[in-house]
Amino acid sequence: MSSLILKQAQELLLERVERIEETEEIALLDGVGRVLAKDVLAGHDQPPFPRSPLDGYAVRSEDIKQASRECPVRLTVTEETDAGHVSKGKVKEGTAVRIMTGAPIPEGADCIVRQEDTDYGEETVEIYEAVKAFENYCFAGEDYKAGTRIMKRNLRLGPVEIGILASLGSEKVRVYRKPRVAVLTTGDELVLPGRELEEGKIYDSNLYAAVTRLKALGAEVVRYGHTRDDTKETAEWLKETVGKTDLIITTGGVSVGKKDMMHQVLEYLGGERIFWKIAIKPGMPTLCGQYKGTLLICLSGNPFGAAVNLELLVRPVLSKLLGSRELDLKRIPAVSENGFPKGSRVSRYVRAYYEDGRVRIPKGSNASGVLSSMCGCNCLIEIPAGPEGLERGETVWVILI
Ligand code: AMP
Ligand code: MG
Repeated sequence: MSSLILKQAQELLLERVERIEETEEIALLDGVGRVLAKDVLAGHDQPPFPRSPLDGYAVRSEDIKQASRECPVRLTVTEETDAGHVSKGKVKEGTAVRIMTGAPIPEGADCIVRQEDTDYGEETVEIYEAVKAFENYCFAGEDYKAGTRIMKRNLRLGPVEIGILASLGSEKVRVYRKPRVAVLTTGDELVLPGRELEEGKIYDSNLYAAVTRLKALGAEVVRYGHTRDDTKETAEWLKETVGKTDLIITTGGVSVGKKDMMHQVLEYLGGERIFWKIAIKPGMPTLCGQYKGTLLICLSGNPFGAAVNLELLVRPVLSKLLGSRELDLKRIPAVSENGFPKGSRVSRYVRAYYEDGRVRIPKGSNASGVLSSMCGCNCLIEIPAGPEGLERGETVWVILI
Protein backbone atom coordinates (compact mmCIF):
# COMPACT_ATOMS: atom_id res chain seq x y z
CA MET A 1 0.00 0.00 0.00
CA SER A 2 1.41 3.41 -0.92
CA SER A 3 1.53 5.83 1.98
CA LEU A 4 -1.47 8.05 2.69
CA ILE A 5 -1.69 11.78 2.83
CA LEU A 6 -2.48 13.17 6.28
CA LYS A 7 -6.14 13.93 5.54
CA GLN A 8 -6.79 10.34 4.46
CA ALA A 9 -5.06 9.01 7.56
CA GLN A 10 -7.14 11.28 9.79
CA GLU A 11 -10.35 10.20 8.04
CA LEU A 12 -9.50 6.51 8.38
CA LEU A 13 -9.10 7.02 12.10
CA LEU A 14 -12.13 9.25 12.59
CA GLU A 15 -14.51 6.90 10.85
CA ARG A 16 -13.84 4.43 13.67
CA VAL A 17 -14.47 6.91 16.47
CA GLU A 18 -17.83 7.51 18.15
CA ARG A 19 -18.38 10.42 20.46
CA ILE A 20 -18.59 9.56 24.15
CA GLU A 21 -22.21 9.58 25.36
CA GLU A 22 -21.64 8.87 29.07
CA THR A 23 -22.00 11.88 31.31
CA GLU A 24 -21.12 12.72 34.90
CA GLU A 25 -21.88 15.51 37.33
CA ILE A 26 -18.79 17.28 38.59
CA ALA A 27 -17.95 20.24 40.81
CA LEU A 28 -18.09 23.49 38.86
CA LEU A 29 -14.61 24.35 40.12
CA ASP A 30 -13.25 21.31 38.25
CA GLY A 31 -15.10 22.16 35.05
CA VAL A 32 -12.47 23.94 32.94
CA GLY A 33 -11.80 21.98 29.73
CA ARG A 34 -14.84 19.73 30.19
CA VAL A 35 -17.67 19.49 27.65
CA LEU A 36 -21.18 20.45 28.66
CA ALA A 37 -23.61 17.52 28.38
CA LYS A 38 -26.90 19.45 28.29
CA ASP A 39 -28.30 22.84 27.37
CA VAL A 40 -28.35 25.34 30.22
CA LEU A 41 -31.49 27.41 30.85
CA ALA A 42 -31.58 30.37 33.20
CA GLY A 43 -33.69 29.67 36.28
CA HIS A 44 -33.93 33.35 37.22
CA ASP A 45 -33.36 36.85 35.90
CA GLN A 46 -29.81 38.10 36.27
CA PRO A 47 -29.70 40.40 38.11
CA PRO A 48 -32.90 39.27 39.84
CA PHE A 49 -33.91 42.88 40.66
CA PRO A 50 -33.35 46.35 39.17
CA ARG A 51 -30.12 47.65 40.64
CA SER A 52 -28.06 50.78 40.80
CA PRO A 53 -25.06 50.88 38.42
CA LEU A 54 -23.34 53.59 40.49
CA ASP A 55 -23.12 55.37 43.85
CA GLY A 56 -25.66 58.16 44.10
CA TYR A 57 -29.31 58.87 44.88
CA ALA A 58 -32.40 56.97 43.77
CA VAL A 59 -35.03 59.56 42.81
CA ARG A 60 -38.14 60.18 40.71
CA SER A 61 -37.05 61.75 37.39
CA GLU A 62 -40.22 63.83 37.57
CA ASP A 63 -38.92 65.61 40.72
CA ILE A 64 -35.59 66.71 39.23
CA LYS A 65 -36.64 67.78 35.74
CA GLN A 66 -35.57 71.38 36.38
CA ALA A 67 -32.35 70.59 38.33
CA SER A 68 -29.11 72.38 37.37
CA ARG A 69 -25.96 73.70 39.12
CA GLU A 70 -27.45 77.18 39.15
CA CYS A 71 -30.83 76.03 40.29
CA PRO A 72 -30.45 72.80 42.31
CA VAL A 73 -33.45 70.77 43.42
CA ARG A 74 -33.45 69.86 47.12
CA LEU A 75 -34.86 66.45 48.16
CA THR A 76 -35.28 64.80 51.56
CA VAL A 77 -33.06 61.72 52.00
CA THR A 78 -35.21 59.07 53.68
CA GLU A 79 -32.70 56.23 53.97
CA GLU A 80 -29.48 54.70 52.72
CA THR A 81 -29.25 51.38 50.94
CA ASP A 82 -26.12 49.32 50.21
CA ALA A 83 -25.47 46.33 47.94
CA GLY A 84 -27.01 43.22 49.47
CA HIS A 85 -29.69 45.18 51.39
CA VAL A 86 -33.23 46.10 50.46
CA SER A 87 -34.59 49.56 51.27
CA LYS A 88 -37.60 49.63 53.58
CA GLY A 89 -39.63 52.41 52.06
CA LYS A 90 -40.68 53.78 48.69
CA VAL A 91 -39.32 56.90 47.04
CA LYS A 92 -42.20 59.35 47.22
CA GLU A 93 -42.51 62.83 45.74
CA GLY A 94 -39.76 65.14 47.00
CA THR A 95 -37.61 62.35 48.49
CA ALA A 96 -34.48 60.41 47.59
CA VAL A 97 -32.74 57.25 48.83
CA ARG A 98 -28.96 57.31 49.12
CA ILE A 99 -27.90 54.24 47.12
CA MET A 100 -24.65 52.33 46.46
CA THR A 101 -23.61 50.33 43.38
CA GLY A 102 -25.36 46.96 43.21
CA ALA A 103 -28.13 47.85 45.66
CA PRO A 104 -31.74 47.17 44.60
CA ILE A 105 -33.45 50.34 43.32
CA PRO A 106 -36.26 51.15 45.75
CA GLU A 107 -39.85 51.21 44.57
CA GLY A 108 -41.00 54.59 43.29
CA ALA A 109 -37.54 55.63 41.96
CA ASP A 110 -37.02 55.49 38.21
CA CYS A 111 -33.45 56.76 37.91
CA ILE A 112 -30.21 57.28 39.81
CA VAL A 113 -28.37 60.61 40.10
CA ARG A 114 -24.58 60.20 40.29
CA GLN A 115 -23.25 61.41 43.63
CA GLU A 116 -20.83 63.67 41.72
CA ASP A 117 -23.91 65.61 40.52
CA THR A 118 -25.07 66.32 44.07
CA ASP A 119 -23.80 67.94 47.26
CA TYR A 120 -23.49 64.44 48.87
CA GLY A 121 -26.14 65.51 51.39
CA GLU A 122 -27.22 63.13 54.14
CA GLU A 123 -30.48 64.57 55.53
CA THR A 124 -31.32 66.48 52.39
CA VAL A 125 -29.54 66.46 49.07
CA GLU A 126 -29.07 69.07 46.39
CA ILE A 127 -29.38 67.65 42.87
CA TYR A 128 -27.44 69.51 40.15
CA GLU A 129 -28.43 67.49 37.09
CA ALA A 130 -31.70 66.42 35.50
CA VAL A 131 -31.75 62.67 34.79
CA LYS A 132 -34.31 61.01 32.53
CA ALA A 133 -36.49 58.07 33.55
CA PHE A 134 -34.51 54.80 33.52
CA GLU A 135 -31.21 56.56 33.04
CA ASN A 136 -28.46 55.11 35.26
CA TYR A 137 -30.89 52.28 35.80
CA CYS A 138 -29.90 48.65 35.48
CA PHE A 139 -32.96 46.50 34.73
CA ALA A 140 -33.68 43.10 36.21
CA GLY A 141 -32.53 40.53 33.63
CA GLU A 142 -29.98 42.91 32.08
CA ASP A 143 -27.52 40.01 31.86
CA TYR A 144 -30.08 37.28 31.04
CA LYS A 145 -33.77 36.61 31.55
CA ALA A 146 -35.29 33.58 33.27
CA GLY A 147 -35.92 30.80 30.75
CA THR A 148 -33.24 31.93 28.28
CA ARG A 149 -30.97 29.22 26.88
CA ILE A 150 -27.57 30.46 28.00
CA MET A 151 -25.35 27.64 26.77
CA LYS A 152 -25.70 24.78 24.34
CA ARG A 153 -24.66 21.19 24.91
CA ASN A 154 -21.15 20.36 23.59
CA LEU A 155 -19.64 23.66 24.65
CA ARG A 156 -16.13 23.28 26.06
CA LEU A 157 -16.08 25.11 29.39
CA GLY A 158 -13.58 27.80 30.24
CA PRO A 159 -13.40 30.12 33.23
CA VAL A 160 -15.96 32.52 31.72
CA GLU A 161 -18.51 29.75 31.18
CA ILE A 162 -17.81 28.53 34.73
CA GLY A 163 -18.52 32.07 35.97
CA ILE A 164 -21.84 32.18 34.10
CA LEU A 165 -22.85 28.77 35.48
CA ALA A 166 -21.98 30.02 38.97
CA SER A 167 -24.18 33.10 38.42
CA LEU A 168 -27.05 30.66 37.82
CA GLY A 169 -26.56 29.30 41.30
CA SER A 170 -25.39 25.73 40.71
CA GLU A 171 -22.17 24.39 42.22
CA LYS A 172 -22.21 21.37 39.90
CA VAL A 173 -22.32 20.82 36.18
CA ARG A 174 -23.18 17.82 33.98
CA VAL A 175 -20.43 17.06 31.48
CA TYR A 176 -19.39 14.22 29.20
CA ARG A 177 -16.84 11.94 30.77
CA LYS A 178 -13.26 12.48 29.67
CA PRO A 179 -11.79 10.35 26.88
CA ARG A 180 -9.78 7.55 28.51
CA VAL A 181 -6.35 7.01 27.07
CA ALA A 182 -3.37 4.72 27.75
CA VAL A 183 0.22 5.51 26.80
CA LEU A 184 2.96 2.95 26.28
CA THR A 185 6.53 3.72 25.30
CA THR A 186 8.66 0.94 23.87
CA GLY A 187 12.41 0.57 23.51
CA ASP A 188 15.28 -1.32 25.18
CA GLU A 189 17.25 1.92 25.37
CA LEU A 190 14.79 3.76 27.58
CA VAL A 191 15.22 4.52 31.26
CA LEU A 192 12.59 6.31 33.30
CA PRO A 193 13.62 9.70 34.69
CA GLY A 194 14.71 9.42 38.31
CA ARG A 195 16.82 6.31 37.66
CA GLU A 196 20.50 5.94 36.90
CA LEU A 197 21.44 6.28 33.22
CA GLU A 198 23.55 3.31 32.09
CA GLU A 199 25.74 3.29 29.02
CA GLY A 200 23.84 3.18 25.76
CA LYS A 201 20.59 4.27 27.38
CA ILE A 202 18.57 7.47 27.18
CA TYR A 203 15.79 8.82 29.33
CA ASP A 204 12.22 8.23 28.24
CA SER A 205 10.93 11.66 27.31
CA ASN A 206 7.99 10.55 25.15
CA LEU A 207 6.12 9.12 28.12
CA TYR A 208 6.23 12.41 29.96
CA ALA A 209 5.52 14.60 26.94
CA ALA A 210 2.61 12.44 25.75
CA VAL A 211 0.96 11.92 29.14
CA THR A 212 1.04 15.62 30.01
CA ARG A 213 -0.10 16.72 26.55
CA LEU A 214 -3.03 14.32 26.63
CA LYS A 215 -4.04 15.58 30.04
CA ALA A 216 -3.82 19.16 28.80
CA LEU A 217 -6.07 18.23 25.88
CA GLY A 218 -8.70 16.98 28.31
CA ALA A 219 -8.04 13.23 28.33
CA GLU A 220 -7.82 11.01 31.38
CA VAL A 221 -4.64 8.95 31.19
CA VAL A 222 -5.81 5.78 32.92
CA ARG A 223 -2.66 3.76 32.38
CA TYR A 224 0.86 4.46 31.24
CA GLY A 225 4.03 2.45 31.13
CA HIS A 226 7.04 1.19 29.25
CA THR A 227 7.99 -2.14 27.70
CA ARG A 228 11.19 -3.40 26.09
CA ASP A 229 11.50 -4.18 22.39
CA ASP A 230 9.84 -7.49 23.06
CA THR A 231 6.78 -8.58 21.16
CA LYS A 232 5.28 -10.70 23.94
CA GLU A 233 5.94 -8.22 26.74
CA THR A 234 4.42 -5.41 24.68
CA ALA A 235 1.46 -7.53 23.58
CA GLU A 236 0.79 -8.50 27.23
CA TRP A 237 0.75 -4.86 28.27
CA LEU A 238 -1.76 -4.07 25.56
CA LYS A 239 -3.89 -7.11 26.46
CA GLU A 240 -4.12 -5.91 30.05
CA THR A 241 -5.07 -2.44 28.90
CA VAL A 242 -7.56 -3.03 26.14
CA GLY A 243 -11.18 -2.48 27.17
CA LYS A 244 -10.22 0.04 29.83
CA THR A 245 -9.68 2.95 27.45
CA ASP A 246 -11.09 4.63 24.36
CA LEU A 247 -7.67 4.85 22.78
CA ILE A 248 -4.16 3.42 23.20
CA ILE A 249 -1.09 5.35 22.11
CA THR A 250 2.35 3.80 21.80
CA THR A 251 5.69 5.23 20.73
CA GLY A 252 8.64 3.46 19.13
CA GLY A 253 9.12 0.31 17.09
CA VAL A 254 7.14 1.23 14.00
CA SER A 255 9.92 1.55 11.42
CA VAL A 256 11.56 -1.19 9.42
CA GLY A 257 14.43 -2.03 11.77
CA LYS A 258 14.90 -5.53 13.19
CA LYS A 259 13.64 -4.35 16.55
CA ASP A 260 10.62 -2.50 15.18
CA MET A 261 8.18 -5.02 16.53
CA MET A 262 4.88 -3.14 16.73
CA HIS A 263 3.80 -4.81 13.48
CA GLN A 264 4.33 -8.27 15.01
CA VAL A 265 2.63 -7.15 18.21
CA LEU A 266 -0.49 -6.21 16.27
CA GLU A 267 -0.40 -9.50 14.38
CA TYR A 268 0.24 -11.51 17.57
CA LEU A 269 -2.79 -9.90 19.20
CA GLY A 270 -4.96 -10.56 16.18
CA GLY A 271 -5.51 -6.83 15.76
CA GLU A 272 -6.37 -5.17 12.47
CA ARG A 273 -3.97 -2.84 10.70
CA ILE A 274 -5.76 0.31 9.54
CA PHE A 275 -2.71 1.86 7.90
CA TRP A 276 1.04 2.11 8.13
CA LYS A 277 3.01 5.12 6.87
CA ILE A 278 1.79 8.61 6.13
CA ALA A 279 3.38 10.93 3.58
CA ILE A 280 4.50 13.49 6.16
CA LYS A 281 7.69 14.42 7.90
CA PRO A 282 8.23 13.87 10.77
CA GLY A 283 6.24 10.81 11.67
CA MET A 284 6.16 8.94 8.39
CA PRO A 285 6.24 5.40 9.88
CA THR A 286 3.13 5.88 12.05
CA LEU A 287 1.13 2.65 12.36
CA CYS A 288 -2.55 2.59 13.26
CA GLY A 289 -4.66 -0.39 14.10
CA GLN A 290 -7.66 -1.58 16.00
CA TYR A 291 -7.58 -4.25 18.65
CA LYS A 292 -10.78 -5.56 20.26
CA GLY A 293 -12.57 -2.39 19.15
CA THR A 294 -9.96 -0.03 20.59
CA LEU A 295 -7.95 2.28 18.36
CA LEU A 296 -4.21 1.83 18.58
CA ILE A 297 -2.11 4.75 17.39
CA CYS A 298 1.54 3.74 17.26
CA LEU A 299 3.76 6.77 16.86
CA SER A 300 7.39 6.97 15.90
CA GLY A 301 9.76 6.92 18.86
CA ASN A 302 11.54 10.04 17.70
CA PRO A 303 10.45 12.64 20.26
CA PHE A 304 9.64 15.40 17.76
CA GLY A 305 7.91 12.93 15.45
CA ALA A 306 5.84 11.61 18.35
CA ALA A 307 4.90 15.13 19.49
CA VAL A 308 3.87 16.25 15.99
CA ASN A 309 1.80 13.17 15.30
CA LEU A 310 0.11 13.39 18.64
CA GLU A 311 -1.19 16.76 17.44
CA LEU A 312 -2.00 15.70 13.88
CA LEU A 313 -3.59 12.32 14.57
CA VAL A 314 -4.46 11.93 18.24
CA ARG A 315 -5.89 15.39 18.77
CA PRO A 316 -8.62 15.04 16.08
CA VAL A 317 -9.57 11.69 17.63
CA LEU A 318 -9.91 13.30 21.06
CA SER A 319 -11.93 16.10 19.51
CA LYS A 320 -14.40 13.61 18.04
CA LEU A 321 -14.56 11.55 21.25
CA LEU A 322 -15.35 14.76 23.14
CA GLY A 323 -17.94 15.91 20.60
CA SER A 324 -16.60 19.44 20.77
CA ARG A 325 -15.06 21.28 17.82
CA GLU A 326 -12.76 23.35 19.98
CA LEU A 327 -9.94 20.80 19.91
CA ASP A 328 -10.01 20.53 16.12
CA LEU A 329 -6.77 21.51 14.42
CA LYS A 330 -7.03 25.07 13.18
CA ARG A 331 -4.83 26.57 10.52
CA ILE A 332 -4.09 30.27 10.51
CA PRO A 333 -2.02 32.26 8.01
CA ALA A 334 1.24 33.88 9.11
CA VAL A 335 4.22 35.55 7.52
CA SER A 336 7.37 33.49 7.96
CA GLU A 337 10.43 35.29 9.28
CA ASN A 338 12.68 32.48 8.04
CA GLY A 339 13.23 30.37 5.01
CA PHE A 340 13.25 26.59 5.28
CA PRO A 341 14.70 24.32 2.61
CA LYS A 342 12.87 21.07 2.08
CA GLY A 343 14.68 17.78 1.60
CA SER A 344 11.80 15.60 0.49
CA ARG A 345 8.55 16.03 -1.43
CA VAL A 346 6.21 14.99 1.39
CA SER A 347 4.42 17.60 3.47
CA ARG A 348 6.54 18.88 6.24
CA TYR A 349 5.82 20.14 9.77
CA VAL A 350 8.26 22.59 11.24
CA ARG A 351 8.30 23.68 14.87
CA ALA A 352 7.94 27.44 15.26
CA TYR A 353 6.78 30.36 17.37
CA TYR A 354 3.74 32.39 16.30
CA GLU A 355 3.02 35.93 17.42
CA ASP A 356 0.92 38.72 15.89
CA GLY A 357 0.61 37.29 12.41
CA ARG A 358 4.30 36.37 12.13
CA VAL A 359 5.98 33.04 12.66
CA ARG A 360 9.61 32.35 13.56
CA ILE A 361 11.51 29.09 13.25
CA PRO A 362 13.90 28.62 16.19
CA LYS A 363 17.62 28.13 15.70
CA GLY A 364 18.73 24.54 16.11
CA SER A 365 17.93 21.32 14.41
CA ASN A 366 14.49 20.43 13.12
CA ALA A 367 15.39 16.72 13.05
CA SER A 368 12.71 14.37 14.28
CA GLY A 369 14.95 13.05 17.06
CA VAL A 370 15.56 16.54 18.47
CA LEU A 371 13.14 17.90 21.00
CA SER A 372 15.11 20.70 22.68
CA SER A 373 14.71 23.20 19.83
CA MET A 374 10.93 22.89 20.25
CA CYS A 375 11.26 24.47 23.67
CA GLY A 376 8.89 27.47 23.85
CA CYS A 377 7.36 26.77 20.42
CA ASN A 378 3.62 27.22 20.11
CA CYS A 379 2.87 26.07 16.58
CA LEU A 380 3.78 23.94 13.59
CA ILE A 381 4.31 25.41 10.15
CA GLU A 382 2.75 23.23 7.48
CA ILE A 383 4.77 23.12 4.28
CA PRO A 384 2.64 21.39 1.62
CA ALA A 385 3.85 18.37 -0.34
CA GLY A 386 6.00 19.24 -3.32
CA PRO A 387 9.56 20.22 -4.10
CA GLU A 388 9.46 23.76 -2.74
CA GLY A 389 10.59 24.76 0.69
CA LEU A 390 9.73 27.96 2.44
CA GLU A 391 10.89 31.45 1.49
CA ARG A 392 11.44 34.18 4.01
CA GLY A 393 8.48 36.61 3.96
CA GLU A 394 6.14 33.99 2.51
CA THR A 395 2.67 33.55 3.98
CA VAL A 396 2.34 30.07 5.42
CA TRP A 397 -0.28 27.99 7.22
CA VAL A 398 0.35 27.51 10.89
CA ILE A 399 -1.27 25.03 13.29
CA LEU A 400 -1.37 26.37 16.82
CA ILE A 401 -0.54 23.75 19.43
P1 AMP B 1 12.09 3.99 17.17
O1 AMP B 1 10.85 4.66 16.67
O2 AMP B 1 11.82 2.99 18.21
O3 AMP B 1 12.90 3.45 16.02
O4 AMP B 1 12.97 5.13 17.84
C1 AMP B 1 13.45 6.22 17.08
C2 AMP B 1 14.38 7.06 17.92
O5 AMP B 1 13.66 7.67 18.97
C3 AMP B 1 15.51 6.31 18.56
O6 AMP B 1 16.67 7.11 18.55
C4 AMP B 1 15.03 6.08 19.97
O7 AMP B 1 16.07 5.91 20.89
C5 AMP B 1 14.25 7.33 20.23
N1 AMP B 1 13.17 7.09 21.19
C6 AMP B 1 12.30 6.07 21.11
N2 AMP B 1 11.43 6.12 22.13
C7 AMP B 1 11.76 7.19 22.88
C8 AMP B 1 11.25 7.75 24.07
N3 AMP B 1 10.22 7.20 24.69
N4 AMP B 1 11.85 8.86 24.58
C9 AMP B 1 12.92 9.40 23.95
N5 AMP B 1 13.44 8.92 22.81
C10 AMP B 1 12.88 7.80 22.27
MG1 MG C 1 12.96 1.51 19.04
